[in-house]
Amino acid sequence: MTSIAIHGGAGNLDKYIGTGRLEEAELFLNHTIQELHKQLESGASALDVVTNAVVLLEDIGYFHAGKGTCVTTNGRVEMDASIMEGAQANAGSVAVVSSVRNPIRLARLVMEQTPHVLLVGQPAEALAEMHGLEFVQPDYFVPCDVAAVGNAQTTSAWNNHGTVGAVARDKAGNVAAATSTGGTLHKAAGRVGDTPIIGAGTFARNNVGAVSCTGYGEYFIRTSAASAVVHRVELLGESIGAAAGAVLSEVSAIGGSGGMIAIGSRGEVAMPYSTPGMYRASIDAWGKKTVGIL
Ligand code: ASP
Repeated sequence: MTSIAIHGGAGNLDKYIGTGRLEEAELFLNHTIQELHKQLESGASALDVVTNAVVLLEDIGYFHAGKGTCVTTNGRVEMDASIMEGAQANAGSVAVVSSVRNPIRLARLVMEQTPHVLLVGQPAEALAEMHGLEFVQPDYFVPCDVAAVGNAQTTSAWNNHGTVGAVARDKAGNVAAATSTGGTLHKAAGRVGDTPIIGAGTFARNNVGAVSCTGYGEYFIRTSAASAVVHRVELLGESIGAAAGAVLSEVSAIGGSGGMIAIGSRGEVAMPYSTPGMYRASIDAWGKKTVGIL
């Protein structure tokens, strides 16, 4: 049976109560998860479906990735993304890209068209150009926070972050994970978080699980969060839910916060978070749909 989970980032989402943003996002998540599940049920691969999922999440502008990305302290958009498939452990990622419309498509190009795993900055964008990916002008980006609450009420620095991600298991039993972000809000120029780091923000291994993380990336790097979940399941025999919860506790123990979505080998789903909210939706292998934010 197929299974899918998506997220639009974890954080202080209670600040959006009364703005209409939470209701809009919930409708979008509800519709999107059903569409993606249909794709899996029609035989699409987990890799294609997580790519499609992240493109939709990047394009909608509600989350801090793709269209909704906010600028760094030097006024530039700097986005990171990664993708991994669980059959052969192939992976691709990009960091500090500023004008590609869908960084997740570029991460997939790195995986499929180069011998490398991670490309950064201008050379990564040259690869996008070579393969005809769409580029956008700076005015394409409408920071999600500003769109929802207006300039005056946006909060700053470490209070805010956001990311989008997807994990899926297809009919053939293959799993995949994909994550894309504008990083933490008001981050320093050149700062790279966990999202493009395979094993920290994204990880997938067939017959074990797939994970996509969101939160203060520095803490997810320091705990190798995404791969730690998979290794706990594999080596300790924990359930995917217990493993995800344990790794999130490790993140909290060193001062971090955030959340993750994870799919286990049988298509079971876990979506724990330690922040006031996490945009999330899933349909597990038994057809159970979950959509939530706070
Ligand atoms: N993990 C992302 C980063 O640190 C941000 C987030 O998920 O909110 O870049």
